[in-house]
Order: sequence, then C-alpha cells, then structure tokens
Amino acid sequence: MNERKSPRVYDMSDRPRAPRTMLSDAPPGMRQCPRCKRMLSVEHFIKDRTRSDGLYPYCRECKRAHNQERREKDKATRKIWEARPEVHARLRERDKLPQYQARHKRFYERHRAENTVKCREYRHRNPERIRAINARIRAKNKEVVTAWKRRYYYERGGREMGAAWRANHRASRLAAQMARADRLRQAEGSFTGSEWEALKDQYDHTCLRCQRRETEIVLTPDHVIPLIKGGRNDIGNIQPLCRSCNSTKATHTTDYRVTWKGDNSERDIPSFPRQGLLFE
Ligand SMILES: [Zn+2]
Ligand SMILES: [Zn+2]
Repeated sequence: MNERKSPRVYDMSDRPRAPRTMLSDAPPGMRQCPRCKRMLSVEHFIKDRTRSDGLYPYCRECKRAHNQERREKDKATRKIWEARPEVHARLRERDKLPQYQARHKRFYERHRAENTVKCREYRHRNPERIRAINARIRAKNKEVVTAWKRRYYYERGGREMGAAWRANHRASRLAAQMARADRLRQAEGSFTGSEWEALKDQYDHTCLRCQRRETEIVLTPDHVIPLIKGGRNDIGNIQPLCRSCNSTKATHTTDYRVTWKGDNSERDIPSFPRQGLLFE
C-alpha cells in the first residue's frame, strides 16, 4: 500500500499542457471522445449528472472497453490476493491496530455522504441480493435474532406494545380513510345513487375485473383514473369492481370497461380458473 506522509503540493503554473480539443471546438451536438479521439454526436455518450456538461467523457464504446479493462485488472488483483492468504491475514490484523482504525474512520467520515448514496443505490438495484444476504445472516444467527426479538418485545412492554401497535395501526388506517374522504370532497364532479345503479345494471351487476356478480360480491364504485392522480368523480370515470378487485387495482389506471363483452351470458370464459362454476 502506498501511504502518504503529507499531502503533496504540485506547482501547476508552468507545467506544459497536452494540446487537446476543447469542448467549444466541437460543432454543436458533437463531442470528441478523449480516448479514441473520434468526433461523435452526443448520442454516443452516456449521461452523467456529475459532469459539468452532463455527459460521461468517454464514448459508449470506449466506456465499455474501459470498464472491461477495469474488471480484468480487478480480477488479476484479486487473484494475486487469493494466492497469498497470509499477506491478507496480516493486513487484516494490521487494520485492527488503533492508528489504522482511526485512519479507516477518517476515510469513512470523509466519504460518508457519497458512501450512503452508493449503498442506497446498490440496495435499490439489487433487492433480491440484499434479501438473500439478510436471510443468510438471520439463519446464521438464529439464537441471537430470537434473543433480540425477545428483548425488544419485553423492553417495549410486551403485550402493551401489541396494543399500542394496534392503536397506532387503527389511527393510520383512519387517517388514510379521512384522506380519501378529503380527496372525494375536493375532486371535481359527482354522481348520483341512481347513476351508480344504472351503471351496475349496464354491466349486469358484474365486477368488471373478476366477472363475479352481485350478490356473490359487493360492487363498489372504482375510479378508473384514481382521484389521487387527478381523476374526476363523474360517473364517466367510474367502473363497478368488487371490494377485493378494487383494492388490488389500488392507484393504477386500468379501464376494465373496454374489456366488457356486453351480455353476461355470452361473455368469454375468463382466463383464470374459477371454482364452483362450469363454463360449458
Ligand atoms: Zn471513444
Ligand atoms: Zn372482482
């Protein structure tokens, strides 16, 4: 490892600079790749928000090649390390010394912000990998996890915590209901009870998603374009869905009216298996 005693100061004032094509020299919409020196249109460069002009300097091709080289280099390095486990072990021991711990800590503090972002992005990119890792850790530490859970439960007051959680949960459900009522009040348009009844008649009292009919299910008015996405509260934005289909649809915009086959008796066999009904 290459350790620096003090930060080096470079005097840049009379250092000869390599001639290069300035960005301003490129015709509009074009850009020179500093690696392959080709003048290419900006579509040949990937976006990079950290750059002043929002583009990665190397062209796509060069970036790919560069990444590949990097990977191969890393692989070679790893091989060297793996071939010398005793060196690895020694360094691991060295890292436990206080001065090295302090150095690591300083490094971590210096890079804390970008590290947080990087980790978060990694977790978002690889959810199943993270899940697998967590599951592995939990499996490996079963007793510890159980002990933690037990301690957590007792420290938070055991049964009382359960009651508190339920009360909390009730409160948030109530809040969601009130927010929904609020949206209904604020939404544009309205429809009457008889309009709703007429709509159900039109669709033969059928849930447009699962094709089950009243009174097997209870139909509820579903907003095709959800209120939360600015949908109107008009009958024109309403479709009859059963409770469970309504909650499955959540805040998606799915118009099941277009798949309605008209007369219920001539409708196509639903593509999903249904129990207790024969379609022949
Ligand atoms: Zn290039
Ligand atoms: Zn349904």
